[in-house]
Amino acid sequence: MHTYATPYNIVRNLQPELPVYCFRPERVTASARWFVEKFPAQAFYAVKANPAPHVLDALWEGGVRSFDAASEKEIQLIHGRFPGARIAFLHPVKPRHAIKRAYENYGVRIFVTDTVAELNKILEATGHARDLTILVRIAVSCDGSALPLANKFGAGPEEAAEILRLARRHADEVGVSFHVGSQAMKPSAWAQAMADASRIIIDAGVTVDIVDVGGGFPAIYADTAPPEMDDYVAMVMRSFENMFVLENAELWCEPGRALAAEAESLLVRVDLAKGNTLYINDGSYGSLYDAVHERWEFPIRAIPGDGRKMGRMVEYTVYGPTCDSTDKLAETVWLPAGMTEGDYIEFGNIGAYGRAMATRFNGFGEAETLAVQDAPWPSLYGAASAEVVAFGSKATN
Ligand SMILES: *Cc1c(COP(=O)(O)O)cnc(C)c1O
Repeated sequence: MHTYATPYNIVRNLQPELPVYCFRPERVTASARWFVEKFPAQAFYAVKANPAPHVLDALWEGGVRSFDAASEKEIQLIHGRFPGARIAFLHPVKPRHAIKRAYENYGVRIFVTDTVAELNKILEATGHARDLTILVRIAVSCDGSALPLANKFGAGPEEAAEILRLARRHADEVGVSFHVGSQAMKPSAWAQAMADASRIIIDAGVTVDIVDVGGGFPAIYADTAPPEMDDYVAMVMRSFENMFVLENAELWCEPGRALAAEAESLLVRVDLAKGNTLYINDGSYGSLYDAVHERWEFPIRAIPGDGRKMGRMVEYTVYGPTCDSTDKLAETVWLPAGMTEGDYIEFGNIGAYGRAMATRFNGFGEAETLAVQDAPWPSLYGAASAEVVAFGSKATN
């Protein structure tokens, strides 16, 4: 992958026609190292947040060795790239044949369930293997989460206790897991979920080897800054001490967004300005899904196509490239006056659920990826170091 000093250099040298993902490998290794060094939990990266090979490689570089896969394709991707990785199949509903192949062909031993039926499916599809780790996903409150996940998955207290007892009989290791919802703005969500989990374990009357506190750890965007990541760790550690689990029980987590968000920004081109309405070359069917459907406010900056000095800020309406009228940023955006065809806008911290969401609707969705060395966007992992991690070729001016 070619490396440029900054997105300004990309604009100056290439005037790119397609949207460009600006990859910042150093930001990924920084988030990965933070989880490895500061969070005393085994981090399973949730592959769905950003499955791009260069992002996976940078996470590996930062010390991530465990992966949360939701599908057979994700398992194949990780197994092919990192034969030594530990892969957990953590979708609560899995096709029977996918469980079988995960176990037999890809060495997967960790599975999640939130029903007795799915537990039986796992046991049958693996030929009643004796070396399984079964996590029981419990339903928890998603208080304070931007994207709650509680309704679709998770067993209620009584069913969870029953599944735990059954799993204990058949599995080598047993754990509890939950997901407090994505972009969880309140560390207290974990305290509550872990207290609920502890009560279920006591009711079940079983020993538990693993407590998996899921994903949901935040990223920083333009609107409201989340609490410090250290606050989340402190809350999880305090709650873990109070749980009714074995002295040597392991703590796991499944961060997706928190590990991937700062990995990439997106550089889009203005294809037309109609007064203060801009038409850009990515939108709700591309990487800006969350900016439209979740009203997410990504940090942005304008980059002039011709290097001119830009003026005072005014409000714009911004449309994506497809013919669908809902392909429009939910909020008006502030950009310099006089934005015109051939200018660019960079959306920061779009590494999580950005490229992963892009479709090919209307023939759009194609993009380039280039590495950059600047670090202009807010970070939850300290300022970027001046030292540049060499990925691919050297920077050109
Ligand atoms: C999506 C998902 C994650 C990652 O969630 P983030 O909010 O991105 O951290 C982790 N675990 C499971 C089971 C998920 O579905």
